[in-house]
Amino acid sequence: MAAVQLSGIYKRYGDTQVVHGIDLHIDDGEFVVLVGPSGCGKSTLMRMVAGLEEISGGELTIGGTRANGLAPQQRNVSMVFQSYALYPHLSVYDNIAFGPRIRKEAAAKFKPRIEAAAKMLNLSGYLDRLPRALSGGQRQRVAMGRAVVREPSLFLFDEPLSNLDAKLRVQMRTEIKALHQRLQNTVIYVTHDQIEAMTMADRIVVMNAGRIEQIGRPLELYDRPANLFVASFLGSPSMNFAEGEVVAGDGGLALLLPDGLRIALTGQPPVQPGAKVTLGVRPEHIETGAAQDGIPMTIEVVEPTGAETHLYGKIGGNAWCVTTRERALIEPGQRVTLRLPAEHRHLFDTESGRRLA
Ligand code: ADP
Repeated sequence: MAAVQLSGIYKRYGDTQVVHGIDLHIDDGEFVVLVGPSGCGKSTLMRMVAGLEEISGGELTIGGTRANGLAPQQRNVSMVFQSYALYPHLSVYDNIAFGPRIRKEAAAKFKPRIEAAAKMLNLSGYLDRLPRALSGGQRQRVAMGRAVVREPSLFLFDEPLSNLDAKLRVQMRTEIKALHQRLQNTVIYVTHDQIEAMTMADRIVVMNAGRIEQIGRPLELYDRPANLFVASFLGSPSMNFAEGEVVAGDGGLALLLPDGLRIALTGQPPVQPGAKVTLGVRPEHIETGAAQDGIPMTIEVVEPTGAETHLYGKIGGNAWCVTTRERALIEPGQRVTLRLPAEHRHLFDTESGRRLA
């Protein structure tokens, strides 16, 4: 078991800096997900923790020991990759036993560990098979088995589910989480998939362009995104936004949108007339009705998913989505009015992107 501390970690390739001073503490036993768009530096950061990539600057400690200069095998970490990296000519058993054999452990010592890992991962009946005779999910489990028998203090997962089909991804998500609950080890998990981050993490680290945008528990980030980037990155369909200028009117402050639409700002928003502000509301928090006192929207597209229906239209020139669980018969071309409950509104400074309320 190990806590991990990153202090001012950065990475340069030649003249290009791709990771800019990351500070992050991961508790012993915590499941932390690094999430962000492709190219934001997640893999580079994880590879620096694993020892596969040199750290250009800053301090890394694993289990209280400075790890900057340590070789990968001295760090007591196990890594599971997107490509399972199995040996095609070795059986499942031999693939899992590869590490212990390389380390010259006695077979009597590692055999029980392999059998226990195989049982835990539902691979007991497949130990004699070659990887090519396994499904994608089973191969991914073999890769996890190999990581598990090392009994590492730290598990690193780099997009481990990206090669699996949608259904298997959901299943393996649950399996990895269950594995963590059983082993109680420290996990750093890299993904670009916000659903994986939301469902698996104790804490999510949202990254963008080599920097951390926000760190927090999944629902903390979902309910109180610190900026426009996090607000739009987490959630599917994503948060709706309306950009405008704050104006003073008879009934108090309102947001004036480019197409002339006014949205009353409820409560006491910390804004002055003239401020450029972006209002955000998640699709599932919008209420629809036929009432006169709402924001009018013409429905352009209706998408039933079974459990819910997505209604698409435009507000202030931006595409908006409303999610409803009712199977109301709404047709494209129909006008509805939207109500945006005060407690579910998010306000951001348009220029800096920072959360206002
Ligand atoms: P992510 O995992 O978030 O998709 P990466 O960590 O793989 O992102 O990459 C971060 C940035 O570093 C990207 O802009 C990528 O092009 C760059 N990069 C990664 N590896 C190298 C390398 N060996 N040489 C130069 N640039 C690299």
